[in-house]
This record gives sequence, structure tokens and C-alpha cells, in this order.
Amino acid sequence: MTDFSQSRAAFDLPEGVIYLDGNSLGPLPRSAAERVSRMMTQEWGRLLIRGWNEAGWYVQPRRVGDRIAPLIGAEPGSVVMGDTLSIKVFQALSAAAQMRPERRVILSDSGNFPSDLYVAQELVAALERGVDGSADRGLELRIVAPEEVEAAIDDSIAVTLLTEVDYRTGRLHDMAALTANAHAAGALTIWDLAHSAGALPVHLAEAGADFAVGCTYKYLNGGPGAPAFIYVAPRHAETARPALAGWMGHAAPFAFDPHWAPASGIERMRVGTPPVLALTALEAALDIWEGVSMDALRQESIRLSEAFIAAVGARLPGLPLASPRDPERRGSQVSFRHPDAYAIVQALIAQGVIGDFRAPDIMRFGFTPLYLTLAETERAADLLAEVVLTEAWNQPEYRIRAQVT
Ligand SMILES: *Cc1c(COP(=O)(O)O)cnc(C)c1O
Repeated sequence: MTDFSQSRAAFDLPEGVIYLDGNSLGPLPRSAAERVSRMMTQEWGRLLIRGWNEAGWYVQPRRVGDRIAPLIGAEPGSVVMGDTLSIKVFQALSAAAQMRPERRVILSDSGNFPSDLYVAQELVAALERGVDGSADRGLELRIVAPEEVEAAIDDSIAVTLLTEVDYRTGRLHDMAALTANAHAAGALTIWDLAHSAGALPVHLAEAGADFAVGCTYKYLNGGPGAPAFIYVAPRHAETARPALAGWMGHAAPFAFDPHWAPASGIERMRVGTPPVLALTALEAALDIWEGVSMDALRQESIRLSEAFIAAVGARLPGLPLASPRDPERRGSQVSFRHPDAYAIVQALIAQGVIGDFRAPDIMRFGFTPLYLTLAETERAADLLAEVVLTEAWNQPEYRIRAQVT
């Protein structure tokens, strides 16, 4: 059984704060500052350029990828780190679309995160405008409601681009079933694991997923702007072409060949120089996952989110739950709707309970067993009820919209 009091002690959480936003930005691992500082002074400071070889900076994207792999049920050597999630979506989508040249349709759903949809829209638009010089390969982005994805998978689909856990509602797609459906129809799958990695057990290899992408600053606690990961199923690793290619994904980067030739396997998904400082902070965060059972984490996450829903429901029976009521059908977050959601979240933050707001009317709360307790969860539900019942949120200062909500 995983000891969550031990993992909690590994984080530097501010006194008096109940943190229900680890789904957006994980907290600071205690060891991260020291680790990054040591890297800066001893590696960067002393080794200078030699650090790429002597401190293993060059191989760090693969080394860290190999530590992410077990958390998402991926084969060793199938994950590499770098760039941001949006960029990894572009690479996965371009690669997958090229692997189904006879098909035109990218299938996504209206619950997907805007950045994923923007990447797809502008890839479609760029090909339409003939940026690739051919202009005869039209792609189409088809967006259906999340509940309609299964029915929309047919033999026109080249690739499905789906986020497993909906960022607003927490609704969980059935990855194994949809992947099987896509394959039966001859389509490829891209799974965005932004709200899955570190939140629930993921079994990419077992599900037969083709591509997956995710970020590491949410449930994996890598810090603001921590690099993304990309997974390519080993059976595709020697054929996938990322379209967004760079010298570090070249077969021989230091040959400085003017023509791109893909590196073998997952390395080809590297683009440019990796963010070594950020990867170092992430490595410290990943230490905390050693020995954590994803099944135990999932159980505890369900216990916390169920307790929260029950406590909020008992005090605020009229507050609509935006998340699926069945815990097996949601990720590790719970959302409620309220017309004054933004102000309520601000008032709650003023009381030390940090959640967040997603337009137009969602209050979102993440449940992260690594550092969140049942007592805190119950206290947060009490404070939410108090803020709503007393209308403590109804103050002008809670209505001022910050740049980041
Ligand atoms: C958080 C999130 C992103 C963010 O992408 P970045 O490039 O890291 O800013 C993209 N997609 C989904 C589904 C997300 O939840």
C-alpha cells in the first residue's frame, strides 16, 4: 500500500493552503530547488559545455522519458521529452496523418482543449493553402460531441485526436474501447494525457495506442513550463515523421547534414536543445513517484473526490455537478457550475482553498492523493458551501478577472 503521508512530506506546501489545483500546476517538490541549484553550480557552472556529455544533458530527454513510461503504461524507449504539449500535438498529428495518406479526416471532440484544436485547425489550413507545395492533400477536422466520438469513427477517419480526461468536466474517455474502434476502422489514435498522466492508471501499450502526448507541470509536478512528453508505439517508431523536425531529432546531429534524416525510433521526435534546467526539476519531481502504485493512487483519488461531491452535495444540493457522477467515468477532478463561478473561486482562494475557474461557469477542483488529505477535502467542501451560502463571493474585488484564471 502506498504511503501518501510520505509523498505529502516530499512537497513544500504553503501553510494554511488547501491546494485543489494540482491538475493545473503541481506544487513544489522539496528536493527540486536543491537539485536545480546543484545542477547549475556543479554542472553548468563547473563543466560548462562539457555538461552535454559529462553530465548527461544530451541524453536527458530519453532518460526522463523512460521514467515517465511506467506511469503511462508505455514500453521502455517509447517516450521522449521536449518542447510544450501543443508542439507535441502538432508532431503527433502530422506524423499520424502522413501514415494514413489515403484518408482525410481528423476526428476530435468539442470537449478537447483549445490548443489541441487550434493545432489541428491550422495544420488543416496550412495544407489547404499549400504550404507543403502540393496543395492536393486536403485534411479535414471533424469535431463531434464527446458522447458521439464512438459513433463517428468510420473508415473516413485518418486519425482520432482525443484528450482522455476533459479539462473542464473531468469526463473520461474509454481509451481501450475507442482505440480498438479506431483500429477496426483503419484509423490511428492520438491520446492527449494532460489530465491523465499522474492522475490515474494509463495503459498505452495494453490499449494499443498509436501516439500519446502530455505535459508534466500538472499532476506530475514538474514546475511551470516543464517540458512535454511524446509517445510513439514501437511498431510506428521507425516510420513516423514528425513534420516539425529539428537537428536533435536527426540521425547524426553533429554531422550537420543539410538534409533531415530521422534518428532511429523515438529520438526523431526531438526538435532542438532540451530545457535542461526544467528537466532537472522534473527529475526531482519524478523521484516522488518511485514506489507509488497507480492503482492505490486511483483508489484514493476516488475516495477524495467522492467525499468532496458528497459533502458539497449535502450542503448545496442545488449546485449542478458538471462532472460525471460515476467516479469510474471521470478523471481526478471535480467541477461544479455556477453563474458566478469566477467570483466564488476568488473568494475561496482568499480563504486558502485554491481551485480554478474555466469559462464560462465552471469551478474546477483537482484531487491529488500524493499531497492532499481527506480532512483537507472535507474542509474545502465546507468552505465552498460557506462562501456560496453567505454570498461571501459577492464583492467587487472577486470579480476582477486576472490574466490567468
Ligand atoms: C494543459 C493542456 C494543454 C497545454 O498545452 P501547453 O502547450 O503545455 O501549454 C494542451 N492540451 C491539453 C488537453 C491540456 O490539458
